[in-house]
Amino acid sequence: VQRAGARYHVGTFGGRYAKGDEMSEPRILRTAEEMRTYRRSLDGTEECVGFVPTMGALHEGHLSLLRAARARGDRTVVSIYVNPTQFGPGEDLNAYPRDLQRDLGLLGGEGAAVVFTPDDRTMYPEGFSTTVSVEGLTDGLCGAGRPGHFRGVTTVVAKLFNLVRPHRAYFGQKDAQQAAVIRRLARDLDTGVEIVVCPIVREPDGLALSSRNAYLDPEERAAAVCLYRALTEAERAVAGGETSPDRIRARMREVIGCVGGGLARPEYIEIVDPQTLKALPAVNRPSLAALAVFVGGTRLIDNLLLHPGT
Ligand code: AMP
Repeated sequence: VQRAGARYHVGTFGGRYAKGDEMSEPRILRTAEEMRTYRRSLDGTEECVGFVPTMGALHEGHLSLLRAARARGDRTVVSIYVNPTQFGPGEDLNAYPRDLQRDLGLLGGEGAAVVFTPDDRTMYPEGFSTTVSVEGLTDGLCGAGRPGHFRGVTTVVAKLFNLVRPHRAYFGQKDAQQAAVIRRLARDLDTGVEIVVCPIVREPDGLALSSRNAYLDPEERAAAVCLYRALTEAERAVAGGETSPDRIRARMREVIGCVGGGLARPEYIEIVDPQTLKALPAVNRPSLAALAVFVGGTRLIDNLLLHPGT
């Protein structure tokens, strides 16, 4: 998808901003002031601003969000920012893949109007001391194993919403808990931002695309399919009339053991209500099967909606 010879415009510019399409490369904006100035230029126009926040290392999952925004006719702003506050001590902040030139090459053909690439000083200036947190929804699943992670996410998303002032923002179902948390934030803080959640994009063998898949060596990559296999096992169990979350989880754990071999170590395997994210006593209505598994040293997450009776 990389386009050779693409050129990128850096910084602000006067006058009109070209709407992103195949013919125009995205504008790159780096500072809060540049972002605000650009956004103000759209005030009073008919433009609907769609926003796709990312941490870069872009793949087809990210691009699917951009295409969803484009399909709705949005003028699309993509942010690329590896947000340090959502990484815990000992997590992969320093190792996280960063390749802006490659990312810009991928975005060039996808019709983004703007790529916003702030640095840490822009997002967290000296003396920064305000956080945004969503209570309750962030307690379980990834919140349990990654304390402080969602506070980092909600703080940076609230800031990005203030800078970009989107009409709509696009998130992936891949991070189901994050999507639920952001929906709640958007509603509770009266942001007026419509949250659009897009389906998970997978590899042909079912592995959900993730920037962290780049950490996997070939053996781990083969083992990593155990997440999706466990989820489809849950689906099969429910289709066969199983309603006990404990029995479904046991079957999922077994699949992870078999398919993942010695390389896979589950952090959690849960069956929850898709909205409240609370554990369900029985799978007798739409339910979310969600899991986090370490494959070697790489933590992967995935999820699948279960529909009993279909
Ligand atoms: P990240 O760069 O990992 O923070 O992800 C940015 C956005 O892309 C989030 O809303 C993710 O949920 C979404 N995303 C990541 N992987 C996928 C995928 N495989 N399919 C769909 N959306 C994804």
